[in-house]
Amino acid sequence: MIKAQKSSKGKRLGIADIADQIARVIDDTQSGAKELMEPVLRIGVTGLSRAGKTVFITSLVANLLDRSRMPGLQAEAEGRISATFLQPQPDDTIPRFAYEAHLRALNAPAPFWPDSTSSISQLRLSLRLRPVGLLRSMRGQRVVHIDIVDYPGEWLLDLPLLKQSYEQWSAQALALAATPARHALATDWLAQTDDAAPGAALDEPQAQALAAAFTAYLLAARGAGFSNCAPGRFLLPGDLKGSPALTFAPLPRPAKARSSTLYGAFERRFEAYKKQIIKPFFRDHFARIDRQIVLVDALGAIDSGPAAVDDLRAALSEILTSFRPGKNHILSRITGKRVEKILFAATKADHIHHSQHPRLTAFLEALLTEAKDAANWKGAETEALSLAALRATVEQSTRHEGEVLELVRGRLQDGGKEVALHPGDLPADPARLLTPARQGALVWPGDISYHLPVFAPPKPLDAAPHGLAHIRMDKAAAFLLGDKL
Ligand code: GDP
Repeated sequence: MIKAQKSSKGKRLGIADIADQIARVIDDTQSGAKELMEPVLRIGVTGLSRAGKTVFITSLVANLLDRSRMPGLQAEAEGRISATFLQPQPDDTIPRFAYEAHLRALNAPAPFWPDSTSSISQLRLSLRLRPVGLLRSMRGQRVVHIDIVDYPGEWLLDLPLLKQSYEQWSAQALALAATPARHALATDWLAQTDDAAPGAALDEPQAQALAAAFTAYLLAARGAGFSNCAPGRFLLPGDLKGSPALTFAPLPRPAKARSSTLYGAFERRFEAYKKQIIKPFFRDHFARIDRQIVLVDALGAIDSGPAAVDDLRAALSEILTSFRPGKNHILSRITGKRVEKILFAATKADHIHHSQHPRLTAFLEALLTEAKDAANWKGAETEALSLAALRATVEQSTRHEGEVLELVRGRLQDGGKEVALHPGDLPADPARLLTPARQGALVWPGDISYHLPVFAPPKPLDAAPHGLAHIRMDKAAAFLLGDKL
């Protein structure tokens, strides 16, 4: 007989609670046993806004469902993958990644880029594998589930906020906005902050105006190519748009910071943002990731200039910290578990001729080394590569003033005209970019010039379903899941 009993917190549990607990234990045991037979690998896909997450996941899934363009995936080359299929995703509270809609956009007769990531979403892809070697006749096929979790990299950049007070964060954000590279973007918001009286009683319309001006500055900074634009939900609010937890902005501390003042209200909302938004994300989603790919629009940052590259380096260092928090780091207490492998990928490599890809990868590696030094990194296995989730260009060579010029040809997003161009040469030595960036240069040295157009997605070749044309997606898949197949 089951009697009502006391929980560890001393609260009396009813029969229904106990039955629920028992059901949960059985459920956990069953899913644990099932997981032993059908392992689940959770792969996080992140990167800052416009880094290419949506296109990457769409291409990864399309190219795993139809593997004709995936020769670098060993299990495929060895004929071990007998089937791949999409499954209902196991988490009822996370939106499903809109794979079919995104693929339709890219495969339409007049293809267009799908809507970018604005929040967390997930998709489960399962692979059925044939046994190999001696066990072939004794074992049946096995199934591996791959849960792909898409989330904005901006959310990782919120991590430093957890260890800051509102006063510290405000001082830092105001100082950053006053730097030469950002000041022009922050003029309106800084003027409103100067006019505000943080020690006066809270006036909600004024609070909203300050939060709106601060958000406009963050968006402008993002638009100018800066990566560090926390708090992340101000850029990508999802369904939190307009909520009090997002209606605050940095303020200088007044002499008396009572709770009824504007400052007091913002301080409370900042703490609510940390507790109710940042922590649950790390605890409920981030903590469960096994492997991670961080997509980096390195070409876009180079195109935006030295300040954007330096900012990207700082952002990568913050992102690394979230993957390997030190012993005393606040995140260690929230998550406990650590990711095993992280792939850093420079996206949109189809913008440059393949002869420049090693330079792009070397640039990302150098950026990563600096970020690792800054984050005192001793963590998981990492690798860097350059890829294009969807190849929107073809290559061609031409002779110009006696020299061979290597071009990429594609349709411009703006106007749809077909062009062949040479976006600029990446330097062989990444230090030629990283040093001016670190030294605060406002423009690249004279001999480095770089221009990156936005290409439209390519017209599909035929109506038959097949994987999407890509560059090194098979290498990325091999790193992320190859050893589990
Ligand atoms: P997200 O914000 O990280 O989800 O970024 P998206 O995946 O939506 O990509 C942002 C934009 O980058 C797209 O709309 C495309 O213009 C461009 N893009 C992404 N991946 C590729 C690629 O592989 N090749 C090219 N040429 N452009 C890409």
